[in-house]
Amino acid sequence: MWNTPIQLINDEANKIFIKREDLIPYSFGGNKARKGFLFFEEIDSGGYDCVVTYGSSHSNHCRVIANMAASRNMPCYLIAPLEVSDATFNSDFMELFGADIITVPVEKVHDTIEHKLHELKEKGRNPYFIPGGGHGNIGTRAYVNCYNEICEYEQNNDIYFDYIFFASGTGTTHAGLVCGQIMKNDIRNIIGISIARKNPRGRNVVIESIKSFLPDVNEELIQKKTIFLDDYIEDGYGKENVEIANIIKSMMCKYGIPLDSTYTAKAFLGMQKYLKSRKIENRNILFIHTGGTPLFFDDIQKITDRKER
Ligand SMILES: *Cc1c(COP(=O)(O)O)cnc(C)c1O
Repeated sequence: MWNTPIQLINDEANKIFIKREDLIPYSFGGNKARKGFLFFEEIDSGGYDCVVTYGSSHSNHCRVIANMAASRNMPCYLIAPLEVSDATFNSDFMELFGADIITVPVEKVHDTIEHKLHELKEKGRNPYFIPGGGHGNIGTRAYVNCYNEICEYEQNNDIYFDYIFFASGTGTTHAGLVCGQIMKNDIRNIIGISIARKNPRGRNVVIESIKSFLPDVNEELIQKKTIFLDDYIEDGYGKENVEIANIIKSMMCKYGIPLDSTYTAKAFLGMQKYLKSRKIENRNILFIHTGGTPLFFDDIQKITDRKER
C-alpha cells in the first residue's frame, strides 16, 4: 500500500481535504500508477515477455505502462487512435520509454489489438494485454486498496469524510471505491464526477465493474451506492473552458497543487458546483487527486500561451 498523503486545503463552507494520488512515487503517480503496479505484479509472476495496451497521445495510462515496461526492458506496444494523436508531454514520455506506438483510425483500434496479439503469439512471444485505462478487476482492486487507506487515515486522525469526490472516466477508480465501501459496510456519499460519459451508460459501466468484482452483492445495494454525475462534463472530453483554466491557476497559485483540464480540474470544479448548488456546509469532504501531472504541463503551456517547447 502507498498511503498517499491527505491534506486539508481549506476551511470555508466545508473542510476540503485532498488525497494526493498524484504523489505515488512512480512516473508522476496517479491512479494509472496505482493500477499499473497491480497489473505488473501479474505480468512479473506470469512469465509474460511483452505488454500490449491502448490509449490516446494524452493517456496517463499509456505513459505509466510504457514506463513500467521500460523499467523491465520489456517491449510495450501501444495502439493509439489517429483522431487524438497530437504531441503532448505524455506522448513525449511514451517515445522516451521506447514504446512501439501503432497509430490507426479509431474504428481500427480493436482489430489492430487483436492482430498484434496474434502476431506476437505466432512469433512465439507471450504478450500480456492490459485493457485501456487499466479497466477490469485488477484496476478495481487497486481502488479497494485506496479506499482502505482512506478508512485507515480516518481512524488514525479521528475524522470522518462525509463525501468523497473524484474524476470518473472508465469507472474503474469509482468501482473500486464503491466495492471498498460495500466490503466495509459503511455509509457515506461516494460521488464520481464524469469527465466524458453521459448517463445511463457511464453509471452502468461502473455498476458492471462492481458486479464483476463483487458478484454476490445484491443489485439494489450496488444501485444505491453508485452516484455518477454527468452534469459537469462541460464541453466534453478533454475540452477546457475559462472556469477550468481559472481552477488550474488558482489551485497552483494558492496551494501549489497541479490540476489538469481533462480530469482533476474538471472534477474539482464539478465538486464545487455540486456542494454550492446543494448548499452542503460544515462537512468533511475528500477530493481524490487522481494524477495526470504531465497533462497539467500541457495546460499550463496553453494558459500562459507559450508556443515553443
Ligand atoms: C484515467 C484518469 C481518471 C479516470 O479514472 P478511471 O478509473 O478511468 O475512471 C481520472 N483522473 C486521471 C488523472 C486519470 O488519468
